[in-house]
Amino acid sequence: MQIEKKDIRALSKEQLRDFFVTNNDKAFRGNQVYEWLWSKGAHSFEDMTNVSKETRQMLEGNFVINHIKVDTMQRSSDGTVKNAVRLHDGLIVESVLIPTETRTTACVSSQVGCSLDCNFCATARLKRMRNLEPGEIYDQVLAIDRESKLYFNRPLSNIVFMGMGEPLMNYNNVIKAIDMITSNEGLGMSPKRITVSTSGVSKMIRKMADDEVKFKLAVSLHSAIEETRNRIMPFTKSFPLPELREALEYWYHKTKSKITYEYVVWKGINDNKESVDALVKFCKYVPCKVNLIEYNPIDDGEFQQASPESINAYIKALDSNGIIAKVRHSRGKDIDAACGQLANKEV
Ligand code: SF4
Repeated sequence: MQIEKKDIRALSKEQLRDFFVTNNDKAFRGNQVYEWLWSKGAHSFEDMTNVSKETRQMLEGNFVINHIKVDTMQRSSDGTVKNAVRLHDGLIVESVLIPTETRTTACVSSQVGCSLDCNFCATARLKRMRNLEPGEIYDQVLAIDRESKLYFNRPLSNIVFMGMGEPLMNYNNVIKAIDMITSNEGLGMSPKRITVSTSGVSKMIRKMADDEVKFKLAVSLHSAIEETRNRIMPFTKSFPLPELREALEYWYHKTKSKITYEYVVWKGINDNKESVDALVKFCKYVPCKVNLIEYNPIDDGEFQQASPESINAYIKALDSNGIIAKVRHSRGKDIDAACGQLANKEV
């Protein structure tokens, strides 16, 4: 039986050093190979010219290097770029570059499909096929950084984990990817420019706090009323609001980092006073700000964008309670790159 080889980029520098020591070589060989993989972006072991032939053959026998390939790239009339990224096993994920006057933000995927079942989201219909490897997450960022330089003459400035998948359901690989993105061997980006967005997996929020991560946290809240939240995101029955609240309090206690709540207002679902009041109350537990996100219907079903008046009612109530709230207009709607629309439609 042939053993499936592991992607060498899933190994940390320490693990790579250990691998060489276990194989009767020097630990520093691990540093050399690591540099080839990340700083020099080697696509094959053959590229590693200062590593002996025997070592390269030994690596070849144990590992593979799985790089991604941007299959198709679409540009929206508003400048947004969407990449359909092919993985080594033929599966596809999508990532998006969102340019504004002052920033270029990459929205990247963490899973193929998604483990969760948010009723308003196109990705949820794909189901989870597998988690992305750290290198596959890193490569999406690298591809967008190149496009940012090419089309906007500036490097990527921010990253949000809001593409396909729930990042906290692929925690270890997301953390490894962020370590590379922020390390000097990678892109050397500040963790303060990275936001991980979760649907509210409480126990993993606590773990992140314990791990003292330095990036920012966003939570897709969408309702601070249990029953309504369960209707929007059925899996939240396993992560009730009191548990989420406690996890967020713990996060803030440990990190002192403000939380961003992502919130969509839907017609007939959460466009009422009771929902507004519940959100204002929830926002008082932990220092936070609120992004009210414009929704892009994925069909004619129950989730439709609420009226501007209903959104204004939220802004007014949050504002009068001293909570920062902004309306975020979706970008890239014409190429299905906007929030909740990523679903590999072109493939
Ligand atoms: S909104 Fe995010 S967490 Fe929910 S199903 Fe879609 S990709 Fe998954």
